[in-house]
Amino acid sequence: MEIVINLKQHVGAPCEAIVKVGDIVKRGQLIAVPSSLGANIHSSVSGKITNIDTAITILMDENQPDDFIKIPDTSDNLEAIKEAGVVGAGGAGFPTHVKLANKIEGGNLIVNAAECEPLLNHNIEYIKNHADLIVRGVRYLMDITSAKNGYIAIKPKHRKALIALSNACKDIEDINIKFLPNMYPAGDERVIIREVLGELMQPGELPTKYNSIIVNIETLKNCVLAIEMRKPVISKDLTIAGKVHDETKVFFDQAIGTPISYYIDEAGGLLDGSGEIVIGGPFTGKRAGENAYISKISGGILVAVEFPKDAAEFGILACECGAQEDRLSEIVESMGGKVVASTKCKRMVEVNGRFRCDKPGECPGQAESILKLKQGGAKAIITGTCED
Ligand code: SF4
Repeated sequence: MEIVINLKQHVGAPCEAIVKVGDIVKRGQLIAVPSSLGANIHSSVSGKITNIDTAITILMDENQPDDFIKIPDTSDNLEAIKEAGVVGAGGAGFPTHVKLANKIEGGNLIVNAAECEPLLNHNIEYIKNHADLIVRGVRYLMDITSAKNGYIAIKPKHRKALIALSNACKDIEDINIKFLPNMYPAGDERVIIREVLGELMQPGELPTKYNSIIVNIETLKNCVLAIEMRKPVISKDLTIAGKVHDETKVFFDQAIGTPISYYIDEAGGLLDGSGEIVIGGPFTGKRAGENAYISKISGGILVAVEFPKDAAEFGILACECGAQEDRLSEIVESMGGKVVASTKCKRMVEVNGRFRCDKPGECPGQAESILKLKQGGAKAIITGTCED
C-alpha cells in the first residue's frame, strides 16, 4: 500500500522534504522540516519513497516494525515536543511547541476534552483507558508553561471518561475537572474560557490574554508520547461514521498518510445510498474523495447519505462555528439548487477582516435573518448553526 504524507499538515508554510525519490526510510524517520512556522514531519511507515510533490509518497514494506526511530535527545520537554512535530490534533494544526512557548506564570493550562463535533468519539474513548496519561500530560504542560492551575474541560454526558479522569486526579490539588455544556460548539476556545474561568473573551482575542493555554486531548497525548517514549507524531486517532456497514468505529494509532478507503473497508464498506465523504466533523469538515489520506489533523471520516435533489432557491445562513458560505454553497449545488441570498448570524462581527462570533453557543433566534433571506428570494434555508 502507498502512504501519502502531505507536506502541509499544520498552520504555516508547507515543510521542505529532506529525502528524495528512491530513498529507503524507516518508521519514525524525519522526512520533512519547516521552512518557517510549521512542525517536523516523520515517516509513519518503513518503505521506499516513490514520489515527492506537495506530499511524500512511500511504498510501504510488507512487514512493518512495531518500533520507530526515536526523536533525538533534547535539553527539555518543550524541545521534545518540537522535535516530535506535535500540532493541534483537533483540527487546528497550530504547532504546539509555539503555543507552549508562551509563559503563563500563575495561569491556567486547560485541556479541551469536549470532543465537540457530533459523531466523533475517539478522544472520549481514549480517555476511558488512558486517564492517567492525560493527567501526567497536564503536569508536563503546566511545568513547561509555568501554569499554576490545570483543568480538564469535559461534558458530563461522557460519564465513563469523566469517572476515569476523576479517579486519576482525585488526590491532585492543582488539577481539576470542569464541566462544559452539552452543545456544539462547547470546544470553542471562547466557550471553554467562559465555562472554566468565567471570563468573556472578545472575538479575535487569544486565551493567552487570559493567562491561559488550551490544548486538545490528542495533542496532549502526542506531547506525552514525545516526552516519555521519544515518539514522533506518526499516527492518528480517528472515528469513521455514517453510511458504512459498522455505522461508527474508532481507530487508534493509525499511520498518517493512510488512504481513507482503507478505513471504509475496515468499517465494512459503503452502504447503499451513501453520498459524499467528509474529513473532519459534520460542522467544519471538508469534502474528500476515497483517495484522500489522513493527516495529523484528520479527526473523522464521515460518510453522508446521498444529497436529496431539491432545485429550490436557497438562502444561506452562516455561523462562525459551523459550515461557512463556501461549504453551504457546495451542498446547495450538490442538491441541484441555487443560492439566491446569503447572510450571517447576527452575533458575527468583523474583526481584522474575518467574521467572528461574539458569544459562541449563546445563540440567538434567527427570525430576522430568515426574513432577510426570504426577501432575497429564498424558498429554502440552509445553515450550519449550533446544536444542543
Ligand atoms: S451565536 Fe450565532 S455565530 Fe455564534 S455560535 Fe451561535 S449561531 Fe453560530
